[in-house]
Amino acid sequence: MKRAAACLLIMISLAFISGCTERDRMYRESRVLMDTFCTITVVSASEEKAREAINRGFAEIERLDGLLNYFSEDSEITAVNRAAGRPVRVSRETLDIVKKAVHISEITGGAFDPTIAPVVSLWKFSKDISAPSIPSRDAVATALRHVDYRKIEINTAASEIYLTEKGMELDLGGIAKGYAADRAVEAVKAEGIKAALVAVAGDIRGFGLNPSGQGWRLGIQDPRPETVSERPWEDVFATLELRDRAISTSGDYQRFFIKDGKRYFHILDPVTGFPAETDLISVTVIAPEGYVTDSLATAVFVLGVEKGMKLLESMGIDGVLVCADKKILLTEHLRGKINILNPAYQAVNYSP
Ligand code: AMP
Ligand code: MG
Repeated sequence: MKRAAACLLIMISLAFISGCTERDRMYRESRVLMDTFCTITVVSASEEKAREAINRGFAEIERLDGLLNYFSEDSEITAVNRAAGRPVRVSRETLDIVKKAVHISEITGGAFDPTIAPVVSLWKFSKDISAPSIPSRDAVATALRHVDYRKIEINTAASEIYLTEKGMELDLGGIAKGYAADRAVEAVKAEGIKAALVAVAGDIRGFGLNPSGQGWRLGIQDPRPETVSERPWEDVFATLELRDRAISTSGDYQRFFIKDGKRYFHILDPVTGFPAETDLISVTVIAPEGYVTDSLATAVFVLGVEKGMKLLESMGIDGVLVCADKKILLTEHLRGKINILNPAYQAVNYSP
């Protein structure tokens, strides 16, 4: 649960309940799954149908967690990691998400790398970070030798994943929540639901319109709030409307510690094995699919403003990039579509 508390909601749904017709209502439920808070909101005229759809959505997230959880003794990812050096047969979903993760690694030039696990475990951000420690450069360098997504082999016909070197390990922490939101949305849709919002922590995917006939209104968490709030995820600096899209935020404020005045956080540069040296403090990505927004938010954070903006624009994907000086850069298509609530943040035009 420590982990859950630390990586709580990056965004919170501010879906407005006003204007519900007599027929359609919103039904919402939260559960702790994937070591974090998940919330499913469903619009339906029937409470029974809504509850059934919500249960199906959660069941899907739970099932995926069973396959993909790095920390679980009996997940498929653990089986793949333990068997590094020989191929392992896995389910269709595990194969699918690993393929997707490798694809994102390719298009981000390795800024996103699911083989980062050996280095991630040295940093212990997933454990108690009240007693922080910085791993030695030697330990990081040794672990880094096993970090390279190009050493993952995937045999689709045999449904096998092969980590080609002993010591390699997969960590899907930067993509699995968005992927789970995608799958949960499919499960909810399959129940005949026309509108819903699935949030796996800050990886959120919505479809359809809320009962007021609008898209889902979401807030982006303030990465540098002036005061410490008990519910930091409700401290938002901007809102926007989501229509049939997914949204994810990555930032240096989600799991971090400060030592000797320097901030160390959970997003690592696969080249150095250290927290990414970036000019960004928060990156929000909006795209049709959650696995894309989840992994690209992480990657763009590592890439920094220039390369990150270039990547998003070249893919036609929307992004809200917050720089250390609280300047906000928006991809072209998003300009005028985000509502900045906190005057400390200022949207500026990006010119490469
Ligand atoms: P997110 O919170 O989605 O930005 O993902 C961060 C999580 O992904 C971390 O907690 C690590 O488990 C993992 N991770 C950290 N750095 C990277 C990276 N460069 N590429 C892929 N996964 C990463
Ligand atoms: Mg992410």
